[in-house]
Amino acid sequence: MNPKFSDDCSVNKTPRISIPPEVRQYVLERDRHQCQSCGKTTQQSPLHIDHIIPLAKGGTNDLSNLHTLCQRCNLGKGDRLDPRFSRHYYS
Ligand SMILES: [Zn+2]
Repeated sequence: MNPKFSDDCSVNKTPRISIPPEVRQYVLERDRHQCQSCGKTTQQSPLHIDHIIPLAKGGTNDLSNLHTLCQRCNLGKGDRLDPRFSRHYYS
């Protein structure tokens, strides 16, 4: 409900190797500007270009390794959040 707050979180997730703007544009158009997980469009949520295989695990910036995810799906799938940590915050 507060996109500005979420944006602050995503800043920390910036990949080390940035995706060239023309590649981002190509992937967005290929995916019709829709999240490939939940189908949200750019009007509904900020869209991110995500590595299917993370760079840390040997993935590349190749088009076949990139897809479009909304901010929520992109941040939600990460291993970074320890569930115990979130539970602590909810209680
Ligand atoms: Zn999504």
